Amino acid sequence: MDPLHDWRLTAEPHYRPQGNEVALYEAAYAARLPVMLKGPTGCGKSRFVEFMAWRLGRPLVTVACNEDMTAADLVGRFLLEPTGTRWQDGPLTLAARHGGICYLDEVVEARQDTTVVIHALTDHRRCLPLDKKGELVRAHPDFQLVISYNPGYQSLMKDLKPSTRQRFTAFDFDYPPPALEAQVLVAESGLDAALAARLVEIAQAARRLKGHGLAEGISTRLLVNAGQLIAHGVAPREAARMAMVCPITDDADIRESLDHAIDAVL
Ligand code: ADP
Repeated sequence: MDPLHDWRLTAEPHYRPQGNEVALYEAAYAARLPVMLKGPTGCGKSRFVEFMAWRLGRPLVTVACNEDMTAADLVGRFLLEPTGTRWQDGPLTLAARHGGICYLDEVVEARQDTTVVIHALTDHRRCLPLDKKGELVRAHPDFQLVISYNPGYQSLMKDLKPSTRQRFTAFDFDYPPPALEAQVLVAESGLDAALAARLVEIAQAARRLKGHGLAEGISTRLLVNAGQLIAHGVAPREAARMAMVCPITDDADIRESLDHAIDAVL
């Protein structure tokens, strides 16, 4: 059986390009260069890499990184079994061995030791040492590493080391421009175009508050969530509060100004 079977995309993901990122990614993949997708949460980074994996016909092994993640969670570990121990490849090893695209989502969340394991894979060596197993995995020719990174969350403790950054090519992502974002919304939630444009207008207003009490603006993902609530019969104002305002802030003043924006536009 194909070890990457579960990670093959079965249908084309819906993705609307913002510029020439599809061609640029194809060039990076052709050169087997590692890719970094930078940008705020919910702006389309994961959807883009899903689309590219589908387009390139490669399985996509996605790992959502978190602060408890250890290097073993990426490379693999010995499992205890009644008959003895058995090695189990982690997601990064699986992708490297069998030629998948490995996508480490929010990589700065992971502990520093996990970023070190990607170093040998992302330079000319293209190999992954499995120290515990005493094996050196040479990456499959089709293997590629992609990481995502949200510069907004950057802190001194949690930042990518220059030695890690310098191994990657990078794309700057941001929320799509308003007209395109409205089209995404229509396609993803079935909203009518006029209502989609108004929701985008509210998101635009909220994004201007970023840094003035809001850590992160209303993302495209939250707009899609609001659109889906509306498609399921929720009144637009209520949907906007539930999907776009309530999740992102507990600050009474900011909520009030966003509520005003909603009442003015919807
Ligand atoms: P990120 O990985 O940046 O956190 P996602 O890729 O998960 O964000 O995007 C969140 C949602 O926004 C997606 O599920 C999709 O519905 C929508 N989306 C954002 N940008 C696009 C786009 N360019 N084309 C299609 N859908 C998009």
